[in-house]
Amino acid sequence: MGDRLKSERVPYLTSRLQGFGESIFAEMSALAISTNSINLGQGFPDTDGPLEISEAAIAAIREGHNQYPPGVGIPALREQIAAHQRHFYDLTYDPDTEVLVTAGATEAIAASLLALVEVGDEVVMFEPYFDAYAGCAAMSGATRKVVTLNPPDYWFNFDALREAVTDKTRILLLNSPHNPTGKVFTRDELESIAEICVERDLIVISDEVYEHLTFDDNQHIPIATLPGMRDRTITISSAGKTFSFTGWKIGWACAPAPLLNAVRNAKQFLTYVNGAPFQHAIAFALSLPDHYYAELATDLQKRRDQLCEGLERVGFDVFSPGGTYFVTADISLLGEADGLEFCRRLPVRCGVVAVPNIAFYDNEAAGRSLVRFAFCKKPEVLDEAIGRLMVLKRS
Ligand code: PMP
Repeated sequence: MGDRLKSERVPYLTSRLQGFGESIFAEMSALAISTNSINLGQGFPDTDGPLEISEAAIAAIREGHNQYPPGVGIPALREQIAAHQRHFYDLTYDPDTEVLVTAGATEAIAASLLALVEVGDEVVMFEPYFDAYAGCAAMSGATRKVVTLNPPDYWFNFDALREAVTDKTRILLLNSPHNPTGKVFTRDELESIAEICVERDLIVISDEVYEHLTFDDNQHIPIATLPGMRDRTITISSAGKTFSFTGWKIGWACAPAPLLNAVRNAKQFLTYVNGAPFQHAIAFALSLPDHYYAELATDLQKRRDQLCEGLERVGFDVFSPGGTYFVTADISLLGEADGLEFCRRLPVRCGVVAVPNIAFYDNEAAGRSLVRFAFCKKPEVLDEAIGRLMVLKRS
């Protein structure tokens, strides 16, 4: 994260984590409450997932699935995760040795970095990046190297990626569909990334939590499906986004057995296990028919269109996302230049909360005039937010 957002020195906190104090998300969410604003800053749905999945969790509690599950996760869930990877991507994983259930995708990312990175190793990631990547890399003692994604379509310079990889680089951290930009990496882009990973013998941590949230013709392609990549990739996902139960924190990692075993070693000292009854419920959720996933994306696409059109009417320069539930917009056309100041004033000006994208950048100049809105909210909430934002419209 850039210097402007680095928090003040926190007493007692190790030097590795200095600068990672209260996040901009916490600041903005607190503002949302104190100003009674509509919070389009934080990315969680305001409607729970299917009732039958909640019922499965309640049934699991009643049936007594309330003690520690196995360290790798319950067999039924691991089998469903393996079946999901096979069904959607033709990727085969052994549920016993190549699938690990984690406390959300976040723990899978943390455990992967803690397991695989030596102090001083470099981890390459694209910016803007999900903030946990920087925090987890710091905890593992790694140095972060970033390659910038550039609007409007968030392209990256292939040579910049090549240059970012050095002899110290161990990991490339990839996220597609991408938070906060909504970019879905194309096959061509993934192939060029894969080429470097094979050439430089990198391990890829591929965060695919938005795998089912893609729109229009955008297709999610797991990088593990590309030639030479399965054996060097840890594919991570989570039930939070796919089934709209972000608070249950059921995530997973799939990787070839030796890699997965290393991640499992680190994971056992983080949470050991989590969410026994929710594991049962998500095993059930993963058995839902394909139309569940299609309807999820169709519904979200409508809300993407609703928010993007509204933001355009207000006067934002909108970068319509191909996936995720975030849209980024440039505030320059509104006569504004500084996204951080803009977001700090927005709740008082009109009762809406957004997130300044510089929170996701090391190079602050690249994200200075960009802000992120979440559209995983009820249509009437989005309408109300757009109505409130209209006060920003220039005459
Ligand atoms: N990766 C990305 C890109 C995310 O946006 C999020 C949630 N905001 C996560 C991981 C975290 O997922 P989980 O809640 O399953 O830990």
